[in-house]
Amino acid sequence: MDFPVARINLAALRHNLNRVKELAPQSRVMAVIKADAYGHGVLSVATALRDSDAFAVARLSEGVKLRQQGINKPIVLLEGVNSADEFALAAENQLSPVIHLQSQIDLLQRISLPRPLTFNWLMVDTGMHRLGIRPEQALDALADLNQCKNIEGEIGLMTHFANSDLIGDNRNQAQLDAMLSLKQDSGLPLCLANSAAVMSLPDSHQDWVRPGLMLYGISPFTEKNADEFNLQPVMQLSSKLIAVYDIHAGEEVGYGGDWVADQTTRVGVVSIGYGDGYSRHLSNQGEVLIQGQRVPVIGRVSMDTICLNLNDAQQASVGDEVILWGEQGLPVEQLASLAQTIPYELVTVICPRVQRVELDG
Ligand SMILES: *Cc1c(COP(=O)(O)O)cnc(C)c1O
Repeated sequence: MDFPVARINLAALRHNLNRVKELAPQSRVMAVIKADAYGHGVLSVATALRDSDAFAVARLSEGVKLRQQGINKPIVLLEGVNSADEFALAAENQLSPVIHLQSQIDLLQRISLPRPLTFNWLMVDTGMHRLGIRPEQALDALADLNQCKNIEGEIGLMTHFANSDLIGDNRNQAQLDAMLSLKQDSGLPLCLANSAAVMSLPDSHQDWVRPGLMLYGISPFTEKNADEFNLQPVMQLSSKLIAVYDIHAGEEVGYGGDWVADQTTRVGVVSIGYGDGYSRHLSNQGEVLIQGQRVPVIGRVSMDTICLNLNDAQQASVGDEVILWGEQGLPVEQLASLAQTIPYELVTVICPRVQRVELDG
């Protein structure tokens, strides 16, 4: 096997989908597989998640690629599209671009698509102020869309929570209330909940849930681990030791000499770096597992390598496997907190140079 390797546990993925269904038993599931399924490999993830009801990606190109690879579930494009050509390409591929802007509605009223758009969603901005029609304009927008020959069938209503990772935050309830009131006025189905809302805001589950992160076995909360929700990590990232040697007290490690030995130190070099997507913010901060033991990253993360202090793991030798995250005792959430970022970013930026290997069973 080539290293570094990201092992993708498809059984864990299916387990996590079942957890979504246990938490939101009345809702259908739109599985979010944008950004190459959060770096996990979209084709294998889409295939393993065949028991979801629909998929969501961000962009037209992601949806077209899934169709070319034979995925035939409904696919929502969360960013929508902006031109007549893009609407036509979406329609030809039976993709469902989210409508979030008045200019998209104006365009749909002017053009004639090769076939009507189905499984349509109107994004409503209830407070995040990223994408969406304002709630007070939503009913007019729906009336226009219902008149439009390019739109077929019932239109659902979406919103996106800006603070659902903050459990109990009043702003979540305010966003939910705005959508419940629109549901009352329109009778249309709602799709609101991202992972954090699936896990902590049951009233938001409604007709469809829209989780991403939790499917990959990762918690969106800084204070709550994925195993508290009985989620299983899907990605395990590892590589191997390519050098082990001792340096003397006073000697420096890596670019800039950011780490200095205060005693004789056993240094291990691992074949992984920011050129693989291992964050440079883990310089002097990261930790890895060698034979179940946690060992610190020392010095700056280089493009292809990181260095370890092996003083507490003297038995480690060249060729040993080193786990970067995704194992009991080293979840990616902990690395994210050491890098002062979110786990979404760490998994999503893993580069094509890292081999993905599917595990099942
Ligand atoms: C990415 C995304 C999701 C999924 O969010 P998670 O926090 O990963 O569950 C849901 N809805 C929209 C609009 C998104 O952009």
